Amino acid sequence: MFEIPTSTKQHDESRQGEALLIENDPQKSNGRKLYIESYGCQMNFSDSEIVASILLDKGFETTRDYREADVIFINTCSIRENAEQRVRNRLKEFESAKAKNPGMVVGVLGCMAERLKSKFLEEEKLVDVVVGPDAYRDLPNLIEQVDEGSRAVNVLLSREETYADINPVRLNTNGVTAFISIMRGCDNMCSFCVVPFTRGRERSRDPQSIVKEAENLFHAGYREVTLLGQNVDSYKYTAAVADGEEAGPTITFANLLELVAQVNPLLRVRFSTSHPKDITNDVLYTMAKYENICKYIHLPVQSGNSRILQLMNRTYDRAWYMERINAIRSIIPNCGISTDVITGFCSETEEEHQETISMMDYVKYDYAYMFAYSERPGTLAAKRYADDVPEEVKKRRLTEVVDRQRRHSLERLQTYVGKTHKVLIEGFSKRSDKDYCGRNDQNAMVVFPVDERYKVGDYVNVFTDKCTSATLIGVISS
Ligand code: SAM
Ligand code: SF4
Repeated sequence: MFEIPTSTKQHDESRQGEALLIENDPQKSNGRKLYIESYGCQMNFSDSEIVASILLDKGFETTRDYREADVIFINTCSIRENAEQRVRNRLKEFESAKAKNPGMVVGVLGCMAERLKSKFLEEEKLVDVVVGPDAYRDLPNLIEQVDEGSRAVNVLLSREETYADINPVRLNTNGVTAFISIMRGCDNMCSFCVVPFTRGRERSRDPQSIVKEAENLFHAGYREVTLLGQNVDSYKYTAAVADGEEAGPTITFANLLELVAQVNPLLRVRFSTSHPKDITNDVLYTMAKYENICKYIHLPVQSGNSRILQLMNRTYDRAWYMERINAIRSIIPNCGISTDVITGFCSETEEEHQETISMMDYVKYDYAYMFAYSERPGTLAAKRYADDVPEEVKKRRLTEVVDRQRRHSLERLQTYVGKTHKVLIEGFSKRSDKDYCGRNDQNAMVVFPVDERYKVGDYVNVFTDKCTSATLIGVISS
């Protein structure tokens, strides 16, 4: 995968394989140590926080060293073949730790667990437990089964599970920005994508529990929340009612966004991912209405060609996507826009690839995540279409797309130079503790010298006078 610039948080390459560490309650301790590392999208990192919360409640404590763990969990991603390969390689590294401590429980969680199910136990002798994304409440019980000498699998998908009542423990946090899962699963059937098979049917979480979580985070000092879902625009919640009673109003994503924005004007709200077929003007007007809803939309295009979009089953075409971009630009003129692109999808011609490039020229994305098509077993594309674009052609097209995006990212950053930006201080810059870093409304990273009057979690106005390829550089102006 290529990502320019280094991270927009949705899929953070620097966090792949990161291990979680959290404070436990010594009163509850069962003396056992949990090591959990995560791969893939932000949803997986958020799920690991739910898993940790469930096990902390049972007395586990976390460790960052898998060699001293009693339970090792690896929360996996299936989106592309190389994501799965990475997990298999990592499992090999756990072998010697398990040989030294045969009582150690090794578990595979998440999308790869769901895709391979009990086959995983046959393929990887090291693995004791395989758990899909809707079965985490069953983990204490599954660990017990392994303790008693069996291997255990629970990959049942649910139509209801949203873990709404589990307060995720915030892990490896900067104490300022946090993610809130607002829905799970996906009902779209993009032909290239394994997510509907690994994460099940789409379900939306009760809005009250979302607002409560945002309020709790605000009171704990957090100043930014990102609402997460595979397709946030199809968020829809109607409270269940007893027989004979009238159903209450249905809460849409625009309604939810407004409710979260109203938690406090000092709480910034972001969201990801928007689907071009579903993003409504209501959402755009809500974004324009609230200063604290960040002006940034991740709107994956995948391809700029209508025939390929149809084969991908994206249910929009080039003209529709451009119209949505026009709507964003007219309702929120200063909006940052990012995207996902796949190169070399089945039967893609050179002319069709050029249409992706011309779409990039049309939109001038701030960021992009770019991938060469990777066929996934069981998907519609794997069943229906030949994966017939040669690997080197996919890669060459990917390089062209990456080069174009590099240019656009820089152009976009340059438009922000010479202006003052409201920035939420997220921490110290990676390079020097003499500099703070944070993001502007459009999600661009801004670095500026520390000023003792302001601390992490404060908002400051930063005048930016230059930029590198991925970062704005400036000074606090007030
Ligand atoms: N729900 C989001 C959407 O509809 O845009 C995206 C979810 S997916 C986790 C993230 C991205 O991975 C997709 O937008 C797509 O660009 C990429 N992706 C998914 N399946 C892929 C495949 N088989 N080969 C290459 N890239 C893929
Ligand atoms: Fe996959 Fe499409 Fe669902 Fe996104 S919207 S998760 S790409 S099926």
